[in-house]
Amino acid sequence: MSNSMVSVLYLISALLFIFALRGLSHPESSRLGNIFGVIGMIIAIVTTLMFKSVLSYLEIGLAILVGGTIGSIIAIRIKMTALPQLVAAFHSLVGIAAVFVAAAAFYDPESFKIGQFGSISSSSLIEMSIGTFIGGITFSGSVLAFGKLQGIVSGRPIVFKYQHIINALIFLFIIFLIIFFINNQSPTIFWTLVLVSILLGFLVVVPIGGADMPVVVSMLNSYSGWAACGIGFTLSNNLLIITGALVGASGAILSYIMSKGMNRSIISVVLGGFGGEQANSTSKDESDKIVKQGNAEDAAYILKNADSVIIVPGYGMAVAQAQHALREMGDILKNNGIQVRYAIHPVAGRMPGHMNVLLAEANVPYEKVLELDEINHDFPMTEVSFVIGANDVTNPAAKTDKTSPIFGMPILDVEKSQTVLFVKRSMATGYSGVDNELFYRDNTTMLFGDAKKMCENIVKSLN
Ligand code: NDP
Repeated sequence: MSNSMVSVLYLISALLFIFALRGLSHPESSRLGNIFGVIGMIIAIVTTLMFKSVLSYLEIGLAILVGGTIGSIIAIRIKMTALPQLVAAFHSLVGIAAVFVAAAAFYDPESFKIGQFGSISSSSLIEMSIGTFIGGITFSGSVLAFGKLQGIVSGRPIVFKYQHIINALIFLFIIFLIIFFINNQSPTIFWTLVLVSILLGFLVVVPIGGADMPVVVSMLNSYSGWAACGIGFTLSNNLLIITGALVGASGAILSYIMSKGMNRSIISVVLGGFGGEQANSTSKDESDKIVKQGNAEDAAYILKNADSVIIVPGYGMAVAQAQHALREMGDILKNNGIQVRYAIHPVAGRMPGHMNVLLAEANVPYEKVLELDEINHDFPMTEVSFVIGANDVTNPAAKTDKTSPIFGMPILDVEKSQTVLFVKRSMATGYSGVDNELFYRDNTTMLFGDAKKMCENIVKSLN
């Protein structure tokens, strides 16, 4: 295939990727966006396989077979609730791939047409070392994020003295290593750069915990894009450069939106330390903590007699896969003339858009699903807030308790509605580990149980 033909096909792929991102920005157009992305990727792969420089279709075929089989098995088996950690794990693979590609180019520069071992061109060395640095950070940061989200590593932030200074010094050392590497092309310096970058990735993610993980996950998404971009430069592959930059830029924009949603400055999240404080759960005396409990029949009675209901879903809804039963409950209420809407917090669940995807899967109309800033002022005029598997995103400590790790995060003002129904299994805390004083308020009724079963029982009672 001629070079100009490759360029045209790559350009078409790149355009399709841009349309895909555009489509994915809204639930209604997301399916079409996905189709654009798939077609773009098929064109990209087929075009790349047509390169004259391909040496062995057998090896490539075997790699696709092994990788494709593993990917398919994971995709079939993975639970919706485990997707965030899966994404983190996949990001780590992009990171380590960038390191390996850089190593391959360093040891066999002739195959990459960038010179000979020991006399590689400076521009290639710069690309290689930046790719290695970003790849190393992405790898270790993503492995640690995976561990935190999977619960293998404690989600608590680990903060120590002079942490920021140490990170800054390591970063300066990395710049020094890169300059040194470009000048002497030493394998020892290359591998030192790899190890120090991996160390920095750990140190950057270690202090982030509590409720700030969403920003980290989207930031690692962005890093993985830049790492892929770095691979593109090493391989002189324009499409990889464009695609990497698209992922890197969209991940960066998402991180910005997430940190805005959390009312954090992105710099302070990157530098870490947020969520480092212990939760102050002494807002009330232990003896004052009285919890009002109810059951499905009580809930059905309260809901049936309301004029307006706002449903607030959270991570627990995803765990229980309660979205279909919830939609059924919402439909019955709507058919009884009750206004039913859904309020989505930007970090509800464990990944951006988590709740929107589940509600869309259950065919909840998009116009009934509202973002925090669209619906928050309606809670005081609402009779019932039905909080299902959400916790941190409703915690008023974010507004009042300066010592709380979630202080400053905007929350859904459910406590302002006349009655709050809280569906969860126990008094346990949410992801941030902070007690929720809402459970003890006079206008709150706790409905203990699995979210799906509770919805099914409420539906039975309503019928
Ligand atoms: P939370 O983690 O605060 O709370 C979820 C609640 O669901 C828990 O308290 C749990 O209580 C309950 N629950 C779990 N399983 C069930 C079940 N089967 N049935 C009923 N209830 C259940 O979730 P939120 O959505 O309110 O907040 C999200 C949190 O996750 C925030 O802190 C956010 O920062 C963080 N996060 C978000 C990410 C994102 O991108 N959206 C990524 C990473 C972290 P119990 O055990 O008593 O049932």
